[in-house]
Amino acid sequence: MNNESIKICILGGGFGGLYTALYLSDFSWVKSDRCQITLVEPKDNFLFTPLLYEILTGELQRWEIAPSYQKLLAGKKINFRQDKAKGVDLDNRIVQLEQSSPLNYDYLVLAVGQKTRWLDIPGLAAHALTFRSIFDAEKLQERLRLLEASERQRLRIAVVGAGANGVELACKVSDRLNSRAEVIIIDRGTEILRNFGKGVRKAAYKAIRERNIQVYLETSLKEITERQITFFCNDNLIDYPIDLVLWTAGIETIDWVTNLNCQQNNQGKLIVHPTLQLVEYPEVFAIGDIVEIIGSKAKNIPDTAQSAYQQASLLAKNLKLVLQGKPFKSFRYLHLGDMLTLGKGVAIVSSFGLNLTGSLAGFIRRLIYIFRLPTFRHRWQVLRNLLISR
Ligand SMILES: Cc1cc2nc3c(=O)[nH]c(=O)nc-3n(C[C@H](O)[C@H](O)[C@H](O)COP(=O)(O)OP(=O)(O)OC[C@H]3O[C@@H](n4cnc5c(N)ncnc54)[C@H](O)[C@@H]3O)c2cc1C
Repeated sequence: MNNESIKICILGGGFGGLYTALYLSDFSWVKSDRCQITLVEPKDNFLFTPLLYEILTGELQRWEIAPSYQKLLAGKKINFRQDKAKGVDLDNRIVQLEQSSPLNYDYLVLAVGQKTRWLDIPGLAAHALTFRSIFDAEKLQERLRLLEASERQRLRIAVVGAGANGVELACKVSDRLNSRAEVIIIDRGTEILRNFGKGVRKAAYKAIRERNIQVYLETSLKEITERQITFFCNDNLIDYPIDLVLWTAGIETIDWVTNLNCQQNNQGKLIVHPTLQLVEYPEVFAIGDIVEIIGSKAKNIPDTAQSAYQQASLLAKNLKLVLQGKPFKSFRYLHLGDMLTLGKGVAIVSSFGLNLTGSLAGFIRRLIYIFRLPTFRHRWQVLRNLLISR
C-alpha cells in the first residue's frame, strides 16, 4: 500500500455498510491499491434480517442468514476491523474505537443502524424479549423450547407492536407452537402495518384470523410482571396472564450518533443531502436507518433493507466519482414492493399493484431474498440447500 492511498472507513457492516464495501471491492481502483477500505463492525456475522423469522420455524439455519464477515470478505480488498466505534471527531477526521487505536479517514461512511428503544413501562426491559439480532432469535428459541417442554396446554405470547416485525413474528411464533399457541398483538395505533398498502394488510388480517391471533389496537401497555401483562384498552385496565412478551414497538438512534456535531432531525437521525453527504461535512456519507435525506425527491423513504441496499449502491458509485473528480449523483428511491412472511412457508409478495399470497408467495419471497444475499458464493450455497431440501 503506498502513502498516497485514500482511506475510506465504513462504520457498520449491515445492509448499508457491508453492501457498500462489497460494491466498492468490485471497482478496479480498489483492486489496484489506490485506496484502503476498512469496515468496522463489532459482530462476527452479518445478519440478513428479513429472513430471521425462519430460524424460529427451522425453515432456515443460522449459517444461511448469518454468514461470517470472514467468509464474505475472503479474497476482497477490505480490511475488517472487529470493533465498535464510540465516536467520531468530524473536524479532525478521526474515528474512536472501543478496543483498538483510532482510525483516520479521508472519506467516512456512517451505517451503524438503530437500536431497540425501551419505553419507561414497569417490567418491560426486565421481562420482554426483542427480535432484532441472531442472539435475540436464539434466546427466543430457547424460551420457546422451554415452554414447549412444559406441562402447560396453552402457551400465551404477547407481541407488542403491530408493524411488520410484530405481525411477522406473531404469525411465525403461532405456527411454531401450533395448537398450543395463544398469541395476541398489542399496538397503540389504530391499524396494523400502517406503512403498508391495503392488499398487504388484508393478507395479514387473513393470516392473523386463521391463527386465532387476537389484535388489540388503540391499546397501551402499562406493566409487565413475570406471568402477567396489564394493558389499557377501551377504557378498561386489563390483566392478562402471559408466558412470554415480545417487544417490537420501538427503535432509536445510537447515543454517540445523536451527539455528533452535525444536523439531525427530531429523532436524532442524520440529515444528508440526496448525494448522501452530511450537510456540514461533505467527506462524510451516511446511509440506512440512521439518515433522513432532504430534498423533494426524497420523500417517504422507508427504514428498510431495501432502501439501505439501494443507498449502498449509489454511495459506492459516488465514492468512485469523487476519486475521478466527477460530480456526485443523487439518490432516488425505487420502491420495488413489499414482502412479508405470514407464517411457516407462506408470505405475501406485493409489487407494482400485484399481490400474491400463500405458499407460492412464500417460495418466491425466499428466492428473491436468496438473490439479495451478499456474495455470489453464499447465494449459491443457500440456493443449493433449498433445492436439495425440496
Ligand atoms: C427482524 C427484522 C426483520 C426485518 N425485515 C425486513 C424486511 O423484510 N425487509 C426490509 O426491507 N427490511 C427489513 N428490516 C429492516 C432492515 O433490517 C433495516 O432497515 C436495515 O438493516 C438497515 O440497514 P442499516 O445498514 O442502516 O443498519 P443495519 O443493517 O442494522 O446495520 C448496522 C450495523 O452496524 C453495526 N453497528 C452498530 N453499532 C456500531 C458501532 N458503534 N460501530 C460499528 N458498527 C456498529 C451493527 O452491528 C450492524 O451490523 C428488518 C429488520 C429486522 C430487525
